[in-house]
Amino acid sequence: MAVIVQKYGGSSVADTDKIMNVARRVVQTVQEGHRVVVVVSAQGKTTDSLIEQARAISANPPKRELDMLLATGEQMSIALLAMAIDSLGQPVISLTGAQGGIMTDTQHTKARIREVDGGRICSELAQGQVVIVAGFQGVTNANDITTLGRGGSDTTAVAVAAALQAEVCEIYTDVEGVYSADPRLVSDAVKLDEVDYDEMLELASLGAMVLQPRAVEVASVYGVPIHVRSSFSAERGTMIKEVNVVEREVSVTGVAYDENCAKITLAGIPTDISALHNVFSSLAAEGVNVDMIVQAGTSTPTADLTFTVAREELDTALAVITRIQNDQSWKVVCDEDVAKVSIVGAGMMTNPGVAARMFEALSEEKIPVYVVSTSEIKVSCLVPRSRYQDAVRACHRKFELDLGN
Ligand code: ASP
Ligand code: MG
Repeated sequence: MAVIVQKYGGSSVADTDKIMNVARRVVQTVQEGHRVVVVVSAQGKTTDSLIEQARAISANPPKRELDMLLATGEQMSIALLAMAIDSLGQPVISLTGAQGGIMTDTQHTKARIREVDGGRICSELAQGQVVIVAGFQGVTNANDITTLGRGGSDTTAVAVAAALQAEVCEIYTDVEGVYSADPRLVSDAVKLDEVDYDEMLELASLGAMVLQPRAVEVASVYGVPIHVRSSFSAERGTMIKEVNVVEREVSVTGVAYDENCAKITLAGIPTDISALHNVFSSLAAEGVNVDMIVQAGTSTPTADLTFTVAREELDTALAVITRIQNDQSWKVVCDEDVAKVSIVGAGMMTNPGVAARMFEALSEEKIPVYVVSTSEIKVSCLVPRSRYQDAVRACHRKFELDLGN
């Protein structure tokens, strides 16, 4: 009998009525002849308030203890959902990450799943039970509780689906699927029927909040089809799977944005490569993730080096720069009033002129572009934060994304 993994996010289990709604959906899936494993997140904003509680006690709580605390959110929701499913007469058992065999490395608060030992889940399924597994948490070899980073329940679900060779991993959320752009910004954004793994990875990493990027990575490696859909309707959502992009006529699939960036410029930095190496290796040593990079004026002895980091890493990055700047010759300028707008589409590989059309759209709206970065399937532009919404709409219009894929 085929196994289906269903993941319900925090908004889908936010209160008693919603938990009962999920329970009915799960039971219905069983009645349609499937074995079901359910992965749930903590209810509503529980994880946020647990983090707040921790911060009220200590500005920098030990990460092991933070994980111990955060894991309680999911432990509540698995138990409540199990009670709800039981009340409908369906045999059910809830398991913590550790009981479910979610084995991780030791990186507290951003652990990676090393392996899913599916023994317990399989034996419970074989006895006709619905199995509920706590999302977002795992356990190290030394038996310490870890968490997988914000949004990590998605990754739990996909990893469990891979381990059980499930037919599909259904990700239930409060929207109908993956959209061509954020529908809150673009009124004629359309739900996409299917999205390729690589496109989804770019979209997820570029700020579309639908799925944790790591979940897409795992799905792509193990070939797990993901169905993103709403827990409040029966509509088909978006399938994320391997898509034959050679046959793609459209070059752009979606527009994403990310407000969480800050730009740093080092003006007058020496152009020799050792200066560049020194800057980025020092940032890396402090765990600062650098995103876009551009160096201008390279034929002169000094140049302007501009790069972006996440806003919460700006202070750390500036401290690193101050430390390594051994003479006063560079001028450091930073700007937090920026945002990144990206177009994504696997069809870009075979359609020329895509970047040109994006620049056309932005220039028609007189939106300045500070930094550009590209990959085979995306073009990203850093723009003033005050203009990013216009930029998203202009790109959506220029590539006629309201017509769907
Ligand atoms: N509850 C966790 C969070 O809020 C995990 C998740 O929702 O996927 O990040
Ligand atoms: Mg989520």
